[in-house]
Amino acid sequence: MNEFEIIEHFFKDKYPSNKGNLILGIGDDAAIINVSEESELVISTDTLVSGVHFFDNAAAEDIAYKALSVNLSDIAAMGALPRWLSLSLTLPEKDIDWIERFASSFNQLAQEHSLILIGGDLTKGPLSITIQIHGVAPKGKSLRRSGAAAGDLIYVSGELGAAAYALEHFNEAESFPAATKKEMQRLNRPDARIKTGLELRGNATSCIDISDGLLADLGHILKASNVGAEIKLPDIPFSESVKKLDKDKAIELALTGGDDYELCFTLPNGLSESVINKLESICPIHCIGRINKDVSKYTFIDENDLPYEIKTAAFRHFN
Ligand code: ADP
Ligand code: MG
Repeated sequence: MNEFEIIEHFFKDKYPSNKGNLILGIGDDAAIINVSEESELVISTDTLVSGVHFFDNAAAEDIAYKALSVNLSDIAAMGALPRWLSLSLTLPEKDIDWIERFASSFNQLAQEHSLILIGGDLTKGPLSITIQIHGVAPKGKSLRRSGAAAGDLIYVSGELGAAAYALEHFNEAESFPAATKKEMQRLNRPDARIKTGLELRGNATSCIDISDGLLADLGHILKASNVGAEIKLPDIPFSESVKKLDKDKAIELALTGGDDYELCFTLPNGLSESVINKLESICPIHCIGRINKDVSKYTFIDENDLPYEIKTAAFRHFN
């Protein structure tokens, strides 16, 4: 059983996915709850564990920034505006200097997003950070993984593979020269694409954030929407250092490397140019292919417009 089969078998199947005020339960980047005539509540939670999601010796400031951004990224993928959050901290010791540095970075980023901390928990144990964020969207307007249709165009924000490249550098500095400052930033202090998510509302037919690699995460859109995808490899926005690698390694890092925290979304073909221009004014976006009817299947096209076999399998926890 992989991570998703475990969730389905032991948890998801035991509960209804919509009942009463629950509009959308387990299975998307966040749950959606009906709260009023005008708006819906969007709730997501994510945990970061030392040695798994960040290096044991990472700076407290970076850990705080990344933990919050990773959680904001799920709210961005829903096209919601983040409003309230809770913070559950498990700390190995009462190191006041560490806590001060963590808190100052965390509070600053939260305040930049006008978020309010409403609660949490503080316990002793191996370092881990769990954050829950509550966001809001106008009723029925949150983005989901399930609306992509054949003919829609597939887009990604920003560039892909930066964080994965930076990690390769730490593991094997000889083959992977130092990552650029921008790529290191993507690994240590990713920024969630909140503004892009908000602008996608009413325009995108589906959306997800890329945390486990493009193929794994777009795969969730394909499954939820019952469609397939044709990806044009030359149109992938490879990050700077990744571009310099040989083709298969570049494809591996950009398509299956984790930690991008970019958005992958689908737009109907023929959407007005003003919408695209508005999206491009927020952050770069790239059209990387098209949705088709080959349910949950990928087709890859190379620079000569010929089919291309991808050689790497997407990363999955517990595999
Ligand atoms: P994301 O990468 O967007 O955070 P995940 O891949 O972690 O999403 O989770 C997929 C879906 O499964 C989400 O809707 C999440 O809320 C749900 N989920 C994950 N773990 C559990 C769990 N232990 N119990 C119930 N639902 C879970
Ligand atoms: Mg997500």
